[in-house]
Amino acid sequence: MSSKIGLVGTGLMGTPMAERLLEQLSSGDSLTLYNRTPEKLVKLQQQGATIAASVPELLACEAVILMLSDAAAIRAVMLSDAAKPHLSGRTMIQMSTIAPSESRQLCREIQAAGGDYLEAPVLGSIPEARSGQLLVMVGANPEQFETWLPLLQILGESPRLVGEVGTAAALKLSLNQLIGSLTAAFALSLSFVQQQGVPPESFMQVLRQSALYAPTFDKKLARMLDQDYANPNFPTKHLLKDTKLFLDEATAARLQVDSLAGVRQILEMACSLGLAEADYSALFAAIQPQPTAETP
Ligand code: NAP
Repeated sequence: MSSKIGLVGTGLMGTPMAERLLEQLSSGDSLTLYNRTPEKLVKLQQQGATIAASVPELLACEAVILMLSDAAAIRAVMLSDAAKPHLSGRTMIQMSTIAPSESRQLCREIQAAGGDYLEAPVLGSIPEARSGQLLVMVGANPEQFETWLPLLQILGESPRLVGEVGTAAALKLSLNQLIGSLTAAFALSLSFVQQQGVPPESFMQVLRQSALYAPTFDKKLARMLDQDYANPNFPTKHLLKDTKLFLDEATAARLQVDSLAGVRQILEMACSLGLAEADYSALFAAIQPQPTAETP
């Protein structure tokens, strides 16, 4: 049986995900795309995607993958007065990074409109989306998981059912908390050794042999040493968004979050340095001594 699959949000991640789906969907299946800024759809249309001119048109698809910035964007697009009546009988597969409480609320509202909802946030970025190697975490019931597994397997080899809606969002947010905390901790140590006259390679050689090493350190080392944050896969503004979401949820759960509050401040400073759209390794720039009022 052929399926009409939709995807909304062709930003940094939605675009390679759409490309992957176009390559891998079975013949007979089709991909329809919608994006607020239609210019971003031109190339994908040339690659074979059908373009929906409006959200109601997109909702002719039986399932729609959501890859939008945040919950506010999802609400603006999928729960508008124009969209809501078209949700009935449709399945929303929510793959953006949002908070567990936001995901549960969206689920309730989409179900109330007669639609179905599951969450499938991802770890990995543009290269993994292109090659179908995203780590897909699913919050759904077992029947939903079974139904949508073949579609999700196109984007990541081994989607994992975590539990009900909200649990996969929580797992994803926990991983992004680690991205922020590990990167900030690494940037601070790297800055310190540089200031103390320790060659970065000596620092890295010891670190790589130790239990403290994480592969992400080497992935970000060159960008930090060269202070080159251009062409991001994952921009600072989205890591700040996820850090704030984690802080809100963990504070509500009465966890001690002071260390992450420091990471948020560093990310906010990076954004105020004009690096919101840059690669998140730009938090290194915020850790450097900033000019003081007396500095000419
Ligand atoms: P992005 O490049 O900023 O794209 C955001 C998308 O959301 C664009 O299509 C944008 O439309 C749309 N959008 C934002 N606000 C909107 C609104 N109010 N109304 C309608 N559309 C709106 O972000 P991304 O990097 O693709 O990330 C998308 C989601 O995946 C985020 O939740 C992010 O945290 C998560 N994620 C990202 C990565 C990564 O490596 N980049 C990895 C895993 C998860 P326009 O084109 O019109 O602006």
